[in-house]
Amino acid sequence: MIDFSLSENQKRLLDLARDFAAGEIKPVAIEFDRESTYPEAILKKAHELGFLYTNIPKPYGGSGMTYLEHYLVTEALNYECCAIGQMIGIAHLASGAILLGGTEEQKKKFIGSMTESYRSACFCLTEPEAGSDAGVMQTTAEKKGDRYIINGSKCYITNGQYADLLCLFATMDRSLGTRGICCFAVPRNTRGIRVGRIEDKMGHRALNVVELFFENLEVGPDNLIGKEGEGFKLAMMALDRGRVNIAAICTGIAQKALDESIQRAKTRVQFGQPIGNHQGVQFMLADMNALIMASRAMYLQVGWMLDQGLRCTTEGALAKFFATDAVMKITTDAVQILGGSGYMRGAVVEKLMRDAKLTQIFEGTNQINRMVAGRGIMGGASKLF
Ligand SMILES: Cc1cc2nc3c(=O)[nH]c(=O)nc-3n(C[C@H](O)[C@H](O)[C@H](O)COP(=O)(O)OP(=O)(O)OC[C@H]3O[C@@H](n4cnc5c(N)ncnc54)[C@H](O)[C@@H]3O)c2cc1C
Repeated sequence: MIDFSLSENQKRLLDLARDFAAGEIKPVAIEFDRESTYPEAILKKAHELGFLYTNIPKPYGGSGMTYLEHYLVTEALNYECCAIGQMIGIAHLASGAILLGGTEEQKKKFIGSMTESYRSACFCLTEPEAGSDAGVMQTTAEKKGDRYIINGSKCYITNGQYADLLCLFATMDRSLGTRGICCFAVPRNTRGIRVGRIEDKMGHRALNVVELFFENLEVGPDNLIGKEGEGFKLAMMALDRGRVNIAAICTGIAQKALDESIQRAKTRVQFGQPIGNHQGVQFMLADMNALIMASRAMYLQVGWMLDQGLRCTTEGALAKFFATDAVMKITTDAVQILGGSGYMRGAVVEKLMRDAKLTQIFEGTNQINRMVAGRGIMGGASKLF
């Protein structure tokens, strides 16, 4: 019943992703981190190989991978640099709500026009006063006839500067709480969208993250995804899938940290022998490897569940906080194993440790994901067999 073997096509896909990461991302990862550069040339090459829209079904111009394949490829693409890897995979979260709640016509129109040429998207939920508590958002959608006039702002929006398509959440009635929130698909060229501050970040430095302002942004009924008031539900469903994605990303970062640590443990000699011969170092390597195996198994399980059409809110939250806490520990231990050389700017593991921190914060902090998982467990979820 349980089978970890890959088909020939899946092996080829994974090799392609690994080769791409090694050939295109590895040589520039440290430089892009230092300069905080938008990786446009890499994104264009990734597009040519079909890596920009891996999860999007073929009828809408995507590569049509299963969730399992998408998450495996995601781990491979994020191995050399998760910031560049995430810019490649940005459409996953941003297109999620539209794919889940849009009509056939809307999917063809919004997702199809994004995929037909090299275009990207962003997911606009968080606001200055609505972070973990996203339901209290202040961006409003006022109805005038059959039009919606949107005013407000969003913060920390990944790819907000470059996205051609915005998946935007706004409330029609704040007194209704989450049930007043709507989801809109908004093409970038719609009048009334302004980019604010471009964030300067601790890690994930090649990830474009900005503030966005909406000033009398006018959209029509064709832009409304799902029904009025269904936006929050769609956001949470998209995040269920996004959180598994984060677990796959973390597994890639963690594997890189372990590989760097093993290499150093074999070559650095102290007390007359490679440091990897000392039991204290071996214990760290063993703990790292165990956490990676568990993180990978968790994202594979949830990917499989999604491919079976099963709900994964609880399991996605469990995978997210487990893999992100794991990668934080693993990258911290990798710096420990490399000693002083790992602490210096330009060291691969120093970058990995800074990159790892964000994963415990975005797509729901780990406190929020523990709350989501805890609620689900109390309700009887997470019993697979
Ligand atoms: C680099 C980056 C990229 C991002 N990209 C996007 C994006 O593309 N789109 C988007 O919409 N958002 C994005 N975000 C926003 C991200 O999802 C939020 O930062 C996150 O949800 C947390 O919100 P906050 O930062 O306001 O923290 P707060 O909500 O202020 O939380 C602060 C602390 O309080 C804790 N806390 C809050 N409530 C509770 C509670 N009930 N119980 C226990 N602890 C609690 C939190 O866990 C956290 O530790 C991004 C953020 C960053 C940093």
